[in-house]
Amino acid sequence: MVILVHGGAGRVPKAHESEVLAGVAAARDRGWEVLSDGGSALDAVVAAVVFLEDHPRFNAGTGSALNRQGFVEADAAVMDGATLGFGAVAAVRDVKNPVLLAREVMASEHILLAGEGASLFARERGIPAVDPAGLITDEALARWREARRRRVRSSGTVGAVALDRQGRLAAATSTGGIVDKRVGRIGDTPLVGAGTYAEAPLGAASVTGEGEFLARALVAYRAVVALREADPEDAARQALLQARHLGGEGGIILLAGDGRFAAVHTSPQMSHAWRTPEGEGSALA
Ligand code: ASP
Repeated sequence: MVILVHGGAGRVPKAHESEVLAGVAAARDRGWEVLSDGGSALDAVVAAVVFLEDHPRFNAGTGSALNRQGFVEADAAVMDGATLGFGAVAAVRDVKNPVLLAREVMASEHILLAGEGASLFARERGIPAVDPAGLITDEALARWREARRRRVRSSGTVGAVALDRQGRLAAATSTGGIVDKRVGRIGDTPLVGAGTYAEAPLGAASVTGEGEFLARALVAYRAVVALREADPEDAARQALLQARHLGGEGGIILLAGDGRFAAVHTSPQMSHAWRTPEGEGSALA
């Protein structure tokens, strides 16, 4: 069993470092609990991501980055490596935990629902509408004002990959996207193979960073497929270098079907945490 989570490729202010590290470690523990209780890799990654969506310091769910008009439009995806099942939502405005809605989409006849349609589907599945203002934190508002003043594109995202006792692999990713993005902008996170990918027995990946570049490099898929010949560290690096050639930086957590894993980033930082039967750790490098 292995669980690996990330808290995004954005730069973390010094004052928030310990809280962010504690956040990714706690999300990892949520996922690990599910795995040790005999739960599936899919249940584990969803539990870890829900925790980070609810944590206001991370750019997903509550605390998401704000778009150009100052409100949240979230993207999220889940993929089950055992069945190649995939579900995602994009630009959703009124859902507290977009990853739970993505999981519902996976169980439907579609793979991706956006905007108003995603909200309608949420209601159909019993996921209540939340007041969009409730997703906005003071910190996200401050980051948004700063981005508008200085034209910086700070970002972040959360994600998890896991391997369960039965050898099943899964990946989940959730994000508010890039701060001050255009209304309606959709990033790499909810695109299959771009921000999120899992395929048994090869591996599972969740990606963070500059979505426009990561998506065109199909970073998650590229990294998982590279596991055929490379170890996780090299496979992750190859995939990120492809995005860098296009002009974008990012990070990835990559888990191979045999339990080896890597957390690699070309962005300045990426918080992450992991646990295996041999031990656990967390880092913000
Ligand atoms: N990849 C996300 C996006 O472009 C943002 C991030 O990971 O920081 O929407």
